[in-house]
Amino acid sequence: MKTCKSCKKEFNENLTFCPFCGAENSDRKLTYIERKKAREKDTELLLSKASIQQEDIDNAKEFDENKIGLEKVQEIKKARLYSILRVAISLIAFISCIICAELTLKGDINANIKLLIIVVAFFAVAFVASIFISDTYTIIALKKIEKGEFVPMKVYFTKGPIVAYNGILYEIKALDKCPSCGEEVHVEEMDGELYCVCNKTRDHIYKVDKNKYIEQVKLKIEQKE
Ligand SMILES: [Zn+2]
Ligand SMILES: [Zn+2]
Repeated sequence: MKTCKSCKKEFNENLTFCPFCGAENSDRKLTYIERKKAREKDTELLLSKASIQQEDIDNAKEFDENKIGLEKVQEIKKARLYSILRVAISLIAFISCIICAELTLKGDINANIKLLIIVVAFFAVAFVASIFISDTYTIIALKKIEKGEFVPMKVYFTKGPIVAYNGILYEIKALDKCPSCGEEVHVEEMDGELYCVCNKTRDHIYKVDKNKYIEQVKLKIEQKE
């Protein structure tokens, strides 16, 4: 870790630019080319850390399990039904797009309009396919999550890890800021274990003790019911 000359926050010693304030942290003044290369190197390093690395986990400190909370998402049954519906609708939309494009190509219309319809159909197909893929993934994940209680899993691309209890899905959230820098953190799951990762730099990574956390969460849910 090194400390930023400008904002005094800690970050990975292999980075040149501070992930918090963007300040250049170099021993000497860099030339335009050197700066450009340093930016590329930083991006490469950040990408290599886009998922949780073993070496980061080994050194990770513990995140206070009391600072982890739950937010009810919905019932598993409902979640599954919505996903099945979206998969069905996306299939119908996909076929409609293909038919529409086919008819356009065969039809006797102005070439520019033809091109426009094909382009629109292309983007529509891409959009529909993304819904199809993400909801198919959700259906599979829901099937797995139902089997084991409190096995955290990534179910939705836009949400944190999800656990199921008594047929209800809960999103796992961090209630506290990053202990190293005070920025927001988000929760990630890997091999059934939970980690809190800083939104500003993935060098700030914390383990969540699973057993302590599960105990705490069960208590919270039972109090609510
Ligand atoms: Zn800084
Ligand atoms: Zn942080």
